[in-house]
Amino acid sequence: MSEEMKKGGISVETEHIFPIIKKWLYSDKDIFLRELVSNACDAVTKLKRLNSLGHISLDNEAFRITVKVDKDEKTITVSDNGIGMTEEELDKYLCNIALSGALDFIKKYEGEDDNNGIIGHFGLGFYSAFMVASSVTVNTKSYTDSPAVLWECGENGEYTVSPSDKTERGTDIVLHISENEEEYLSEGKLKSILDRYCSFMPVEIYFEGEKEEEEKKPINDTTPLWMKNPSDCTEEEYNEFYHKVFGDFRDPLFHIHINADYPLNFKGILFFPKIGSEYESLEGQVKLYYNQVFVADNIKEVIPEFLLMLRGVIDCPELPLNVSRSYLQNSAYVDKMSKHIVKKVADKLNSLFNTEREKYEGLWNDIKIFVEYGSLKDEKFYGRIKESVIYPLTNGKTVTLDEYLENAKEKHENTIYYCTDKVSQAQYISMLENESIEIAYLDKGLDNQFISMVEQDKKVKFLRVDASVEALKGDGENKENEKLTELFKKIAPENVKLRFEALKGNFPAILTVSEEGRRFGEMMKLYGMGENMPSPECELILNTNSETLALLEKKYGTDPVSAEKTAKQIYMLSALSQRGLNANELNEFLTLSYESINEGIK
Ligand code: ADP
Repeated sequence: MSEEMKKGGISVETEHIFPIIKKWLYSDKDIFLRELVSNACDAVTKLKRLNSLGHISLDNEAFRITVKVDKDEKTITVSDNGIGMTEEELDKYLCNIALSGALDFIKKYEGEDDNNGIIGHFGLGFYSAFMVASSVTVNTKSYTDSPAVLWECGENGEYTVSPSDKTERGTDIVLHISENEEEYLSEGKLKSILDRYCSFMPVEIYFEGEKEEEEKKPINDTTPLWMKNPSDCTEEEYNEFYHKVFGDFRDPLFHIHINADYPLNFKGILFFPKIGSEYESLEGQVKLYYNQVFVADNIKEVIPEFLLMLRGVIDCPELPLNVSRSYLQNSAYVDKMSKHIVKKVADKLNSLFNTEREKYEGLWNDIKIFVEYGSLKDEKFYGRIKESVIYPLTNGKTVTLDEYLENAKEKHENTIYYCTDKVSQAQYISMLENESIEIAYLDKGLDNQFISMVEQDKKVKFLRVDASVEALKGDGENKENEKLTELFKKIAPENVKLRFEALKGNFPAILTVSEEGRRFGEMMKLYGMGENMPSPECELILNTNSETLALLEKKYGTDPVSAEKTAKQIYMLSALSQRGLNANELNEFLTLSYESINEGIK
């Protein structure tokens, strides 16, 4: 190396790199720190490898990376005591390789009109420093006995190389922060970036702010839980990790530790969070790492969408992250990986179901929405977990579909009765319970779509308790009564059909809405198309075993006006327990009821 200062210019082609880096990557500037700190980690890792291969011999040396901010000088310095660079290496790696890497990166993404096509700007490397710095100084001393070098590069791409007086092995990278990026000199900001991206990097990282004494313990955990062997981790460690990483003070319900090696090589931990409310449950968070370097949250191109309801970390050292999201969508590796994750999740659910059924039943309410959503999104997932789907019943038991059907065998083969609201459907529930028919309680938003899927798969029929009177059929004649038909036709709305049926019990009438009609209506509502839909067809079933109806028929012959009022009341009572009444109907119902009370008192 010569003693005098050398000058250089980054080649013609690269003239525009700095303005591009600055403007175009606007949205994700924070990553410059991740890129520099992870380069520093690599420098340490390389040195350690040389040591373990016996090329050099280091005594128990403490490896460390320091991130230092100096508000007066307006600099951020990232230092490591890793492998360092000789002048030749610096020229090769920073002036050529790193630069062409950055150029490749920019070329590759130039066509993407939208920045979201890039995954956490992974792979931009050293030159990302120019997103926030007007000039960068690299002061480095190689582990070999080559002399130390100082490289200084300004915004226009011109650099100088000169001898350095650095005496210790390693590299200091000094960023002179641009005027309009001075927010990066805030300690709080830097700490939060380090926290986000560098919390689990494999070399100890120390932060040095204004107060020197702060620098006592590293900001990172160099051996994150997911890198350990599952059999070496305790429940407490999993819980503690979960609290820390996801800021949730509650314990997770359970976790799945994935440790895949050949042919897939990735690790991770997924947690089933405790769900506070139905809406909260939809906000999961799966963090993607690349060799302990944080990449981004919730990359749906890598992790199956329904798993994003969970919380967790996935570390994929083999994932090509310097590619666009659209590329990942079609990547065979990603496909295999997400299948593997889905299998692991299903295996965990099945094993809980098979070995800890009581615990599983207790968790069901929290995991059900996940199971249903996952099943609807991914048929293979459904195929794997379908025998572990359970149904809580109104009688307090919880059963699988097969267990339910086994009990139902003689009475209502292949029909599963269910309710969605224990209050408004109470009348129907108790009628069926009196017949010792078991009723599943399905009260969540996705149940409708999920049971349709189960119906197709298992060749069964789900009937809401108010959708059918099959189970209530009793002895006696089903004969249609002309008089009563005439009477009820007068008072019931047009979309209500009449039917006579001999039912168990003494009640006069019951209103039913067909299962298909109701589900269709609910679906339309879900898609915001319910407004103009006619209300589904209902059937008013008149009980030929009812004493009330026999009396009503007689009354109709002698006092048709009063009979009409009573018929209306009967209809409204049945509607009340089926779907509720609108304001007008309720008014009319109350008036009629008071009238009949007065009649009774007279
Ligand atoms: P990448 O890290 O993807 O190779 P970079 O642009 O970040 O690309 O860096 C280019 C090269 O510069 C690295 O591969 C490494 O050889 C060298 N380098 C960067 N930072 C350091 C450092 N702190 N210590 C030693 N070498 C470094």
